Amino acid sequence: MLRRDLLKLLPALPIAAAQSSHPPLKITNVKIIPTSGGARYRWIFVKIETSEPGLYGIGSAGNHYQTHAVIAALENHLKPWLIGKDPSRIEELWQSTHLKTYWRNGPVNNNVLSGMDMALWDIKGKRAGMPVYELLGGKVRDAVPCYDHAGGRDQEACVASAQKSLANGYRYVRIQLGGYGGGGFIPPGQGSRPEGGHTGPAFDEEMYVESVPKLFEYVRSKIGFEPKLCHDVHSHLSGMNAVEFCRRMQPLQMFFIEDVLPPEQLAWYRHIRQICTTPQAVGEVFSHPFEYMPLITERLIDFARCRVSAIGGITPAKKLAHHCEVFGARTAFQEGGENDPVNQLAAYHIDISSTAFGIQEENGFPDSVKEMMPGVAEIRKGYLYGNGKPGLGIDIDEKLAAKYPLQPITDGGPYRLDRALDGTVVKP
Ligand code: MG
Repeated sequence: MLRRDLLKLLPALPIAAAQSSHPPLKITNVKIIPTSGGARYRWIFVKIETSEPGLYGIGSAGNHYQTHAVIAALENHLKPWLIGKDPSRIEELWQSTHLKTYWRNGPVNNNVLSGMDMALWDIKGKRAGMPVYELLGGKVRDAVPCYDHAGGRDQEACVASAQKSLANGYRYVRIQLGGYGGGGFIPPGQGSRPEGGHTGPAFDEEMYVESVPKLFEYVRSKIGFEPKLCHDVHSHLSGMNAVEFCRRMQPLQMFFIEDVLPPEQLAWYRHIRQICTTPQAVGEVFSHPFEYMPLITERLIDFARCRVSAIGGITPAKKLAHHCEVFGARTAFQEGGENDPVNQLAAYHIDISSTAFGIQEENGFPDSVKEMMPGVAEIRKGYLYGNGKPGLGIDIDEKLAAKYPLQPITDGGPYRLDRALDGTVVKP
């Protein structure tokens, strides 16, 4: 056929074929769903409804410590602004929502962004008839490896707990001597204290630097060097103590040491890098790209440890994963016991489609949550599995969520802070 003959045929083609096969879509409602999940959670879900009957998305905006600030921001500042907009324009909506607050990159704003962003990806996937990971490029692994949480009051209890994790199929285990800072606490009432001052457990950096490497020497002597071991310092150390701690941990061949320094002292990672090869996982409390970007580009850390909902959802988290890939770092998205199943699934879809993936933190949920949220991801023998359904693959039973309202917060709901002998607060 001659070219001019072909051109004659073109006007006959339906115009819609050259455009999206989907009709225009609008956001018709934004529901804010706070719930305790039948437990003690302080979860906030965002449900974005659209002009297509039955098409909606769910996002996670949870913030355990500023719960009601996020709810107010969603209700008063996101909802009225979002209704009527096109939910298919995820990147545009993320950028304009990010910038419309003028002051940005804070945790509350990021939680709001996350609730919207995850719900928009959920809608996009449902509309395409694909799980979100397909939209991100498809699977690069068969399931998502997770690390388990092990710990106990003494060395023997830690070994027994780690052995239990290994017996359950986990290959990666994080071990803590009691809670965060464990091994570094002077017992209540003991030690030289100011009159009338702090009487509870008192954190001592040098004690911690001394005791935790000894714990891992003992653990390695009992379970060998094959299991991949992690430990979370939870930002409890300062400067040279952090450097010395990582140096002492080097012979224990850790998979990673997590947050050995607080976010205010990131320059010290350069010193750690100069004297040892202990891998560093960093970023649980980060909320600004300037916190993690230089650490990755300068190759000062090995794992970006951000929580997907704390940095603003799937959109910035997939960019973080790409950034890690370019500079040879890996992701280790944070979960934590107070986190919710939607955030877990958001991490799952990035984890399973990114070659920069390192490890995912384990998180399990009680039966009340599984009933309230059909599609909760499952962990079996150390691997996290999604259900392969379109979108994020999870739903929320709003009636059950309403049956489980948030529990009253009488003390402001703070993060529990540790203190030193003289009463000084320790950075978490
Ligand atoms: Mg942590």
